[in-house]
Amino acid sequence: MLTLKKENHVFEALGNKSFFKLICGASFTDNVLVENLSFIFTLAGAHVIDLAPHADIVIAAKNGVEKAIEFGKKDKRFKYNLKPPLLMASIQLDLDPHFRKVEVDRNLCDVCGACVKVCPTEAFKINENEGVKDFIYNKERCYGCGICPSYCHVKALNMTEVKMDPYNTLNDMLLLGLKSIEFHFGKNYLRIREIWDKIKDLVKKLELVSFSLGSGLLSDIEIKDAARLCFELAGSNIILQCDGIPMSGGRSNAGKNGHNNDELSLHVAKLIEEEKMPVYLQIAGGTTEFSFDNVKNSGLPVNGIAVGSYARKLLIPYLNDIYSDQNFSSAFRIARSLVQSSAVSGNYN
Ligand code: SF4
Ligand code: SF4
Repeated sequence: MLTLKKENHVFEALGNKSFFKLICGASFTDNVLVENLSFIFTLAGAHVIDLAPHADIVIAAKNGVEKAIEFGKKDKRFKYNLKPPLLMASIQLDLDPHFRKVEVDRNLCDVCGACVKVCPTEAFKINENEGVKDFIYNKERCYGCGICPSYCHVKALNMTEVKMDPYNTLNDMLLLGLKSIEFHFGKNYLRIREIWDKIKDLVKKLELVSFSLGSGLLSDIEIKDAARLCFELAGSNIILQCDGIPMSGGRSNAGKNGHNNDELSLHVAKLIEEEKMPVYLQIAGGTTEFSFDNVKNSGLPVNGIAVGSYARKLLIPYLNDIYSDQNFSSAFRIARSLVQSSAVSGNYN
């Protein structure tokens, strides 16, 4: 069992159940948008920002955090005590839906435009010049939500796995100065035990470790087994991320029936809570600004929420030009209201 450091504002937020994590996306590799998301959510007070495990993405997030801290020092509107969030990278231990991207078969695509309308991060664009349509796919923006393939009538869109070596990736993230990692193992939670001896000395260097447990990937019994295994290997200061429907916050109905969106993640939280382990529980997968209220109504001891697809979808219109006054105001208002939803709901203090 590991002993991880506990003295910082992140653990304070977990302890008082007001923890907020922004998920940029384990496969989201758009440097500019990651920098700007990190900038605005640092100003908004996020405790952790979760990233794809790539050097350029980590550097982009660090830039965003640094710019926010400098911005906060100079701008009188930021009277509250701005603390830099902990940057976390997501690492894949086995096949997991968070690690994939769509591929386009351009031989099949007839540029119908259906996918353009449904992608939450505007990964597709069609340019038209003198009657000739040009289909543009910005692969960096795809975070693998899986929405678009079912809208393509010629089956030109297919999900493909993003592969990585967990040990080398973890080592790379440590060399970049990261202190926090989230592990994903999809259906194969026993993979953690297989790999633990190899990675545990690297894990000891971290301040915060999270494990993502998905409701659609594991049975109720497996969720309990997986949670016990994470605790047995990594100890009591870990976060267990209770994932509802991964990456579903970008769907068109997300946030519209907000009081029902978190049922699956809260079900995972309830199963883990029954095991009575001293770990932190945090929900994700379809979370919105209603999620803290849903936690409150559930009566479960959930320590915080993570918001990913929903936040990106709301903010995407402002992210390319975040420093214009109008875009900044709109983006900050959205980010701050998400981070503060715990305070607004009166859930925690
Ligand atoms: S809809 Fe989802 S899977 Fe398709 S390109 Fe956009 S982010 Fe990727
Ligand atoms: S939905 Fe399919 S055919 Fe239509 S533009 Fe997208 S990839 Fe091309």
